[in-house]
Amino acid sequence: MDGDWARARIAELRREIRRHNDLYYRDAAPVISDQEYDALLRELEELEAAFPEFADPDSPARAVGADHDARFVSAPHSRAMLSLSNSYDPAEVEAFVQRLQKDLDREAIRFTVEPKIDGVAVAVRYRDGALAMALTRGDGRSGDVITANARTLQGLPLNLPDDWATRFPQRGVRAFEVRGEAYFGLGRFRALNEERTVRGLDPFANPRNATAGSLKTLDSAEVAGRGLSVFLYQIFPLDEQDGAEPGLTGGFPDHRREMAVLQELGFPVNPFLRTAESAQGILAILADLEGVRHDLDYQIDGAVIKVDDMRLQAELGFTAKAPRWGLAYKFAAAEAETLLTGVTLQVGRTGVITPVAELEPVELAGTTVGRATLHNWEEIARKDIRVGDRVVVVKGGDIIPKVLRVVADARTGQETSPPAPRACPVCGTPVVRGEGQVALRCPNPLCPAVLAGRLRHFAGRDAADIEGLGGKWVDTFLDLGLVKSPGDLFRLERAVLAALPGWGEKSADRLLASLAQAPERPWSAKLFSLGIPQVGVTTARTLARRFGGIAELAAAGGEELATLEDIGPVVAEAIVEFFASPGGRALVRDLQDVGYFLPGETVERVEDQGGKVAAIEGKTFVLTGTLPTLTRSEAKALIERAGGKVTGTVSRKTDFLLAGDGPGSKLGRAEELGVAVLDEATLRALLAGGD
Ligand SMILES: [Zn+2]
Repeated sequence: MDGDWARARIAELRREIRRHNDLYYRDAAPVISDQEYDALLRELEELEAAFPEFADPDSPARAVGADHDARFVSAPHSRAMLSLSNSYDPAEVEAFVQRLQKDLDREAIRFTVEPKIDGVAVAVRYRDGALAMALTRGDGRSGDVITANARTLQGLPLNLPDDWATRFPQRGVRAFEVRGEAYFGLGRFRALNEERTVRGLDPFANPRNATAGSLKTLDSAEVAGRGLSVFLYQIFPLDEQDGAEPGLTGGFPDHRREMAVLQELGFPVNPFLRTAESAQGILAILADLEGVRHDLDYQIDGAVIKVDDMRLQAELGFTAKAPRWGLAYKFAAAEAETLLTGVTLQVGRTGVITPVAELEPVELAGTTVGRATLHNWEEIARKDIRVGDRVVVVKGGDIIPKVLRVVADARTGQETSPPAPRACPVCGTPVVRGEGQVALRCPNPLCPAVLAGRLRHFAGRDAADIEGLGGKWVDTFLDLGLVKSPGDLFRLERAVLAALPGWGEKSADRLLASLAQAPERPWSAKLFSLGIPQVGVTTARTLARRFGGIAELAAAGGEELATLEDIGPVVAEAIVEFFASPGGRALVRDLQDVGYFLPGETVERVEDQGGKVAAIEGKTFVLTGTLPTLTRSEAKALIERAGGKVTGTVSRKTDFLLAGDGPGSKLGRAEELGVAVLDEATLRALLAGGD
């Protein structure tokens, strides 16, 4: 190989990798897949090894990327926070096992295998039993201080049980550190993106980007509402200066015991942890994990393989970049190449027109993909996407696939750039573009696409929750002229519904029963169902807590609204504008007339009184799992306002365990100790004065 060529290629690779590091770690907006990134890094590593004369201590091949953000204070890590080496190839798992057998000069090595959560690494320190500090990975030597945001991580204890120090084999431990991965559950991620869309913000590309963005949000109240989760996988004691021994034992005999201690102290740990003693055993577990990965409520991008015995870990030690005792095995990325056959247009309930890529169907992460979002015309121009292109499609998050990039080499010259529309594809009204906005919109409030979108939003699960009003029925109702607005739904007649093709008395009764229940929906859900611009689920909850009914909210001024937590001037103005607009006023009046809005809405009224509640005052609560409508911090606030106390771990002093989905070890502990277990509905009943 030619030296000049190698020198040029090394420089080019370093530049490219640094750029992608910035995009990934600093901007949380990667433009290439992990697999492509790793391929660049490997090429650089190989070239640097083959041409040592071009070595550079600052080469990105020698350091992990940095996520430092100038808005945050940075602090040194207690000990280096390194990533494991990555592998995509089962043969490398075998090579890894063989290498360790040789290095340790022993046949029998037990390995643990656990899911690799596709989130953001965090390090959290506890001093004297209380959460004291949290850091991002940063460059591995120091990270950004994100303590306030870490305190909002669901299930992360703020305080530990009194006997916490006895869990360590060392005596007199005063402080320790846990490390793990913050992540978004997929349900929360979807809700967050829906909310961002409602507020006119760009949705996050995937849960990992949402996690990185959330941890780097300056307003921790905003972060608390998002419902970030965390899994911990490492714990070790710290000395007086928050330093840690360089060895990685933490004093525990093996990684399984380390995980058990985390769990005993009340930290969320992933339930999947298996062991194997051979490469074949590990590969079998990897296959099992890959088989269930799409059933999980969070994203995993692979598995972490570690030597279980921590004395062996210490013996193996580290390279400059990564521990020798572990390997991150990554599943093949969910991306595929296919042909872009056309670009169609979709009109949303706010009139926003989104271009959609029509694709030659292709297999992607277990599903057949025929369409992908193109976001907007700026994106199409930036990526130079043309009809007839070969394109690479990825599944970011579990949700809508997107076009990552064009395979430019495959161009024949026959490709054509899709023109931006001049008129709404549904009603033909000329499109508009709001000042400073990227999106094109149909401004016609009676556009059938806009009406259908509004009805679907109204009937949605987080809104009026009308069963039996699935996608195509909305279109049928609109086509037949049965319904033009949400209020019309309540005027549907049983006989008319039952006579619809494909319906019948049963379907009609089901829809009518669901509609009859709608006024009983939580006040915040009813408020959300209106589709007020900028008002997502969280903002609707804030408003519902402050205002007792729709009339009270409609009468509120912008200044009053802007004083509320989480509501800025832009949101306040959007709300005032909505209630001042003829369309908004007519919609509200209509929904009052049909009995959907009640003169005084109830549930959140109780929450807002802020008074002590006898059944809760002086009682100690522990929270676990995901609650159906409240985030943990909301539940905590409600309990505290009613005079109760919330602690991190279940002990004999605990009065109630408030448990949601996926309760973890706390539930078992509560049952052991005979602590009463409540669900959210029971908590609400208690708050409302019941017993
Ligand atoms: Zn239109």
